[in-house]
Amino acid sequence: MTYVYDFTEGSKDQKDLLGGKGANLAEMTNLGLPVPPGFTISTEACRAYLETGGMPDGLDDEVSAHLARLEDKMGKRLGDADDPLLVSVRSGAKFSMPGMMETVLNVGLNDRSVQGLAAKAGGDERFAYDSYRRLLQMFGSTVLGIEPHVFHEALDGLKEERGVKNDVDLTVDDLRELVTTYKTAIREHTGRDFPQEPREQLDMATRAVFDSWNTDRAVLYRRQERIPADLGTAVNICSMVFGNGGEDSGTGVAFTRDPASGSQGIYGDYLQNAQGEDVVAGIRNTVPLADLERIDKAAYDELLRTMQTLEEHYKDLCDIEFTVEHGKLWMLQTRVGKRTAEAAFRIACQLVDQDLIDADEAVRRVTGSQLAQLMFPRFDTEAERVKVAQGMNASPGAAVGKAVFDSNTAVEWSDRGEGVILVRRETNPDDLRGMVAARGILTSRGGKTSHAAVVARGMGRTCVCGADSLDVDVKAKRMTTADGSVIAEGDVISIDGTTGEVFAGEVPVVDSFVVRHFEGDEAAEGDELVGAVARLMDHADGRRRLGVRANADTPEDAARARRFGAEGIGLCRTEHMFLGDRKSLVEDLIVAESTEEQEAALSALLPMQRDDFHGILEAMDGLPVTIRLIDPPLHEFLPDYTDLSVQVALEDERGNRDSKHHKLLGAVKRLHEANPMLGLRGVRLGIVIPGLFAMQARAILEAASALIREGRDPQPEIMIPLVATVQELELVKVDIVRVASEVEDETGVKLKFKVGTMIELPRAVMAAGDIAEHAEFFSFGTNDLTQMTWGFSRDDVEASFFSTYLDKGIFGVSPFESLDVDGVGKLVRTAVEAGRAARPDLHLGVCGEHGGDPDSIHFFDEVGLDYVSCSPFRVPVARLEAGRSAAAGAVSDSA
Ligand code: ADP
Ligand code: MG
Ligand code: MG
Repeated sequence: MTYVYDFTEGSKDQKDLLGGKGANLAEMTNLGLPVPPGFTISTEACRAYLETGGMPDGLDDEVSAHLARLEDKMGKRLGDADDPLLVSVRSGAKFSMPGMMETVLNVGLNDRSVQGLAAKAGGDERFAYDSYRRLLQMFGSTVLGIEPHVFHEALDGLKEERGVKNDVDLTVDDLRELVTTYKTAIREHTGRDFPQEPREQLDMATRAVFDSWNTDRAVLYRRQERIPADLGTAVNICSMVFGNGGEDSGTGVAFTRDPASGSQGIYGDYLQNAQGEDVVAGIRNTVPLADLERIDKAAYDELLRTMQTLEEHYKDLCDIEFTVEHGKLWMLQTRVGKRTAEAAFRIACQLVDQDLIDADEAVRRVTGSQLAQLMFPRFDTEAERVKVAQGMNASPGAAVGKAVFDSNTAVEWSDRGEGVILVRRETNPDDLRGMVAARGILTSRGGKTSHAAVVARGMGRTCVCGADSLDVDVKAKRMTTADGSVIAEGDVISIDGTTGEVFAGEVPVVDSFVVRHFEGDEAAEGDELVGAVARLMDHADGRRRLGVRANADTPEDAARARRFGAEGIGLCRTEHMFLGDRKSLVEDLIVAESTEEQEAALSALLPMQRDDFHGILEAMDGLPVTIRLIDPPLHEFLPDYTDLSVQVALEDERGNRDSKHHKLLGAVKRLHEANPMLGLRGVRLGIVIPGLFAMQARAILEAASALIREGRDPQPEIMIPLVATVQELELVKVDIVRVASEVEDETGVKLKFKVGTMIELPRAVMAAGDIAEHAEFFSFGTNDLTQMTWGFSRDDVEASFFSTYLDKGIFGVSPFESLDVDGVGKLVRTAVEAGRAARPDLHLGVCGEHGGDPDSIHFFDEVGLDYVSCSPFRVPVARLEAGRSAAAGAVSDSA
């Protein structure tokens, strides 16, 4: 087994083995850049150590061999009393985890070698003791686990005593005293002396770096960043160079471009007479990197040349850590730098213009979630803000408006032109109108897959959910914050769906040019960022195989989706066509006691739904519109049981025993289900309630017929939800086909339409071959398919045990957010194969939240679906991701 690699042996593509820092140190070494020699202990060694708790066999010998070679190269021995080699022991995982793990500098110093170091530095004892106290401090806190404040307080106390502000103002005697204080602290806290033996220091520091992989903050960071928990870190042993030997030395960090805007230039900070950590720790005031030109022109020029070399080599923005030792430049780290969404798009285009990368690579370098960030308006973070609560960031964006606590008020106020934020404890389907009317939605209960969150994301409406410190009193129309202040109806609040923050009053909002561009606003065209986005979107569109449709239920949404580039509607829900003032008709339908009553209710609904479909098909003229027949359980359309009971009791008192309310109460009781998600819904409704699906099919086809007569080109696709077996599909299809020929006879217009099914039950997957015989298309309903496959109900599980599952790593991300490729994905693949085998021209798509999720989109592309469908606001994101998936030939992991 080989565990240790010299810097001359590795390359930037070995991040798995050497970690990012080690791989890039090797790359720079091999580019001939000035990197202090050293070697890397691999992540494999770390994994072996973490598994067994002990250093793996053979590692010790390998380290000895590499150390001996390093000593020969440097002409010094580690910790030698007269001329010590000193090293840093540095963590470095595959993915950068800034500040999460440990690094120890100046390893090899002890009571004797500190003298040798001073002698070799021309008798500079100050420098030597400064280095020693740094070692004691870092070793004490990171290796020996002593609270860092023990050292900080000693240092601050001494500075105060001497009446100086900065560490550089301390004298050599002061530093000597500090070394004694630190050594005493170490003895007191650990019960033993600071280890004087250099090799023991090195081994203990190595072990501490391995251990730092599993500190609480590292674990938490990995979970947030979705970094796998089992990668481990490498350890880089790097010979020390010194920025703390005087004014002609120093240390700095730099970017080859501005990571915030992407502009090219000199960005960074420099600190004279300092060692590494000081720059970022804010110990003294740094100077802008450009000042280095004045301080040390030669070092500055070499740094610029080096930065140029790195940019051309990595073909990307690099971030850099360097040290100047008595005028000589040393490179201590580089990596492809993190950047804002805005910078990502700009830089990708700049690099194409500089011929450093091609357009495919440029598209791979930007992500759908970065694009999404650019699409949401944002609060001005510079502005003064009064935060009153923290909830979950359910749907991004920045919304300002007057707080309202019920949907009617939301609609009324917004009709008269006022911006409102709908505040509820939680929302239900009845709140839809209010949610549409509101600029944003705030709830005090429910998680990221709660009704409010899902619907808000679907509409691209800003939403903060589960802000549980807020006491929302809907009846009294107000809420109380944790500190007891009251926000009443009409008070202005601001909610940030990107961060989950809730503010009192109006926080100023900055507009997104990118959305204005998608909306066709010509004023946005001059913007440089918009230009970059448009350019990469064009390339992605030209590249992608996967079609992109939208989920849209109204003509307005359909029109917006079209502007955003949707090539049709993949899911038009019809539930809302049964809500609002049509509710009483639905109630009539449910309580109907005879076929006549039922038919009367259906005929009353027919013209309304026909108008709805007319509007949507018109907005999507010439493009396919997949319309899902009614799906949810009927009791969702009925009044609340308690409210109804009260009404019935009141009417009973008045002697009215035969009201509609009595019948409704009966229906509510009758329709009550213990597991509504597994109850009477979807195709089951179509089969149990005669005429229901036929009415909807008639409304669709009559609307299509009318549009054809108007010279339009409607392309309806009728979709049957929750089919488990081919018999269900056959039964309802017969009705639809009959209705179609009736409509054709009545209107004399030849209709063009498709009938297909959703695949959202595991049984449908197993029967996909049979079902495909009768379905012209499949649309994967991955929300239901996920819940039916895992056997958990989406509405219940997130609040109850998802966080535990995420904590325990049972899944890295909620399977409702990103498709569970290993389980649900296999079902999708099975159904695709069986369906296409039975019907080669079977059209395949996906609707549901996963259709807009970047990772899932790549999977759907790979498995060969024809299109994904997502909310209108996600359409550009899906277009970009589909393009990235097509261009993904040689994706590099540059996290
Ligand atoms: P992090 O991952 O937290 O950035 P590093 O391992 O990069 O930690 O170390 C932090 C800083 O310590 C570096 O930026 C560099 O300035 C300094 N440093 C590390 N190794 C050496 C070395 N061999 N010589 C001089 N300075 C070093
Ligand atoms: Mg670093
Ligand atoms: Mg479904």
